Amino acid sequence: MSFAALARLQQGLAALSADHLERRRAVLEGPQGAHVTINGQDAVSFCSNDYLGLAADPAIVRAAHGALDQCGVGAGAAHLISGHHRFHHDFEDAFARFVGKSAALLFSTGYMANLAVVTALVGRHGEVFADKLNHASLVDAAQLAGGHFTRYRHGDLAQLEGQLAASRAQERLIVSDLVFSMDGDVVSVDALLDLAERYDAWLYLDDAHGFGVLNGGRGGLTERARASDRVIYLATLGKAAGVSGAAVAAHQTVIDWLVQKARPYIYTTASPPVLAACLLESLRQIEGGDARRARLQQHVAQLRTGLADLKRGTLMPSATPIQPLVVGANAEAVRLSQALRERGLRVPAIRTPTVPANTARLRITLSSAHAADDVARLVDALHALS
Ligand SMILES: *Cc1c(COP(=O)(O)O)cnc(C)c1O
Repeated sequence: MSFAALARLQQGLAALSADHLERRRAVLEGPQGAHVTINGQDAVSFCSNDYLGLAADPAIVRAAHGALDQCGVGAGAAHLISGHHRFHHDFEDAFARFVGKSAALLFSTGYMANLAVVTALVGRHGEVFADKLNHASLVDAAQLAGGHFTRYRHGDLAQLEGQLAASRAQERLIVSDLVFSMDGDVVSVDALLDLAERYDAWLYLDDAHGFGVLNGGRGGLTERARASDRVIYLATLGKAAGVSGAAVAAHQTVIDWLVQKARPYIYTTASPPVLAACLLESLRQIEGGDARRARLQQHVAQLRTGLADLKRGTLMPSATPIQPLVVGANAEAVRLSQALRERGLRVPAIRTPTVPANTARLRITLSSAHAADDVARLVDALHALS
């Protein structure tokens, strides 16, 4: 007997493939880095979030070996049962101190942290206010919270203010990417904080792409935001930090509340403690990482100068390691991405509907692990292809 639901999946997959929207996984051999072996081909990678080249850093790898000998592999239980290891605990303290908040909580992933914070702070009677370009995990989090979900046009704080003024919800939470993941632009933290104060809202900032990179590695919070009880800060730890997980930093009371109420924290096995030991070393590398950040900024400047007079395609105004080159149609982005790949350069094409119509782009990401020569190769190839 035929199984109709399975046949519908097959039709759905065929439709994606026909529309050139099927996603495929490339297989990486060896470590992540500026130079990778991917699908059997050696390539320069402009497609990771390993902005500081820490994913395979020798000091962090040494920390992993040392920790494995001390604590084995598995955490064995959730944090509230018996899985909360000294390494997890010490990392939380070090992270909170580094970003200038009173307490922190370590999660297994940024996705889970976002579900946790939004659902724990906003219930069915609350309202979440979100930038339309926020990361998918923040969209899912607001939907899971089950209250009102109100979105404002990207960066349109006048629209946000109107929405806040009209809100009758008791709990209000403004949530935004701090550095937007597909555009590379940075939110105006103090302007959002002004609105949060004026309309008595929480302000939750997801700094997945700024932590490790901005402000000596401390991320995108301003001094005012560090000091504000209403600001909750998220860093993900699989990007510039080069490891895995995510940390939320906030007022001690917020962290205490999350430990009691956040389901994606409570009902999951703690991450392997070895990862927290790696994160402690990563934090040291980030703190002492001014040379890496300076190199990264040089690469950003080199790319922007090199592509300023490109015939087709425009870099979006970004000072972060995310440098999107907008080329217009989906087909053009795919053509360029494939042609670059044939030259041993990997840059992903980001298409509609992930980004608005006619803004398909190459999402170039830079790392301090790149050499100036890697960036020059990309610039030359793009001129040759455009
Ligand atoms: C990557 C990312 C996340 C998810 O973090 P993971 O640790 O990879 O689950 C959340 N928010 C933003 C803005 C991101 O870019």
